Amino acid sequence: MDSATLLEKLSTMLKVDQINTNHDDLYDASADRYKKYAKARKVLDVPLPVAIVYPDSTDEISRLLMFCNQNNVNVIPRGGKTATEGGLENWKELTIVIDALRLDKILKIDDYNMQATVQAGVPLQQLEDSVRKLGLTTGHSPQSKPVAKLGGLVATRSIGQFSTLYGGIEDMVVGLECVFPNGHVSRIKNVSRRAGGPDIRHIAIGNEGTLCYITEVTVKLFRYFPENNQFFGYLIKDVETGIKVLREVMVNGYRPSVARTYSEEDAAQHFYHFHKNQCVLIFMAEGNVGMVKAIANGIEQAVEKFADGILEKVDSKLIQDWFNHLNWSQKDIDDEFEGMKENDSHAGFTTEISADWGTIPLIYKNVMARIRSEFPRAGDLTMLGGHSSHSYCNGTNMYFVYNYKIKCNPEDEMRIYHHPLQTIIVEETLKLGGSMCHHHGIGKYRNEWTKEEHGSAYYMLETLKNAFDPKGIMNFGTIYPQEDGKKYR
Ligand SMILES: Cc1cc2nc3c(=O)[nH]c(=O)nc-3n(C[C@H](O)[C@H](O)[C@H](O)COP(=O)(O)OP(=O)(O)OC[C@H]3O[C@@H](n4cnc5c(N)ncnc54)[C@H](O)[C@@H]3O)c2cc1C
Repeated sequence: MDSATLLEKLSTMLKVDQINTNHDDLYDASADRYKKYAKARKVLDVPLPVAIVYPDSTDEISRLLMFCNQNNVNVIPRGGKTATEGGLENWKELTIVIDALRLDKILKIDDYNMQATVQAGVPLQQLEDSVRKLGLTTGHSPQSKPVAKLGGLVATRSIGQFSTLYGGIEDMVVGLECVFPNGHVSRIKNVSRRAGGPDIRHIAIGNEGTLCYITEVTVKLFRYFPENNQFFGYLIKDVETGIKVLREVMVNGYRPSVARTYSEEDAAQHFYHFHKNQCVLIFMAEGNVGMVKAIANGIEQAVEKFADGILEKVDSKLIQDWFNHLNWSQKDIDDEFEGMKENDSHAGFTTEISADWGTIPLIYKNVMARIRSEFPRAGDLTMLGGHSSHSYCNGTNMYFVYNYKIKCNPEDEMRIYHHPLQTIIVEETLKLGGSMCHHHGIGKYRNEWTKEEHGSAYYMLETLKNAFDPKGIMNFGTIYPQEDGKKYR
């Protein structure tokens, strides 16, 4: 099938205003934030999708997927467009983007059974604003909350800033509806728990559009007590001290909603108003009065235990103010993009990994040492550091952050700067048994390590693909390595 025939067929299945072939929109749809600099400079090297389509219903998505499956048309599901790892990048000539724009309804907010059901295209902010009116919260608060949509958030296994209390999206999803390439619609019912075989929610959660299209999601709701929030901040000696305090809090069973440790370089860009060139440790306790009191005690005891590494307590108001300005609106995203048309620098690229408590400090040390000694463009780095922002009983994550001046052609930036930096981080993590990917998904630019990440369990991941998407029409190149895609790296 060629593009013209594909468009003709689409026009028999959808109304005119459901098919977008505007050139600028197709250019925008051909890549995500991974190649944002090349995109802003108009030098993208990937094919444009043939169309962006806006289905109105699950039934329409089912018919579209069936059609694409029969005719070998690549499908890229799309939500809020905040993907950072190439999950929305297009590597096929014959591709349609199925955008969840019109799946925009909040279907039910059940404040007795504490769950809400929404269509995939509902922005998280919209749901959060609605449940807040009832004194509730979803507990999910990624920095992309104003823009990211429920389908995308579930498809990438996202995590929010209050995860230490509420968990990642996988802890919040009660049930969902999804559509497979053969058109089959699966509805996973909403129950508090069950032992009816493996947990099939996890086939859809984190699939990044490679197995199915998520059309509806039910998430948990929690009582919200903002009046009880307490904030804590400390200047500390080093990252290791911070990790030790985080561990102490977590293993004693306390669940602050926020528990973070910043390296001094990263602290300098976040906490410019108080960092004094030191590492920073912060906490937030939330919930009912009794809980907040207990958590606050737990934090203070942990800090006391490692008092040798604590340099200074920070005014809690400063931490609270900082939190109120963390999220990114669509305008912030657009402004950053516009800025890249003029600016030859990159701020805020990240690679987030995870490991157990004993291993995280080692990975951090090894990565820093290798980048400083091995990365040929180390002199162009304007910032290199990291923070731990999501902790568990048995370990934590590390969010490596790097800024640099771009001294090459725009089309070479990722190859010369980002990819070598990311490679060092991923190699050091995998070498020590950590996960190369804590919450941004694999997308297309960590797929070269998917097999190593999963080892012998890659068999299970591959079998899922073969079973649900045997013709490989779902988001070609995402998660699963593809020889054909290497040319775009
Ligand atoms: C400023 C900023 C801050 C961020 N902060 C965080 C953060 O704090 N925590 C975090 O986890 N992530 C964060 N991210 C990454 C990103 O926001 C998340 O991964 C988010 O979950 C993506 O949601 P989206 O609706 O924008 O999806 P999109 O970007 O549209 O899509 C993401 C991926 O999911 C697939 N997909 C989208 N919708 C569906 C669907 N309905 N069915 C199947 N597959 C689908 C796409 O094909 C793609 O592979 C941030 C990104 C930005 C730009």
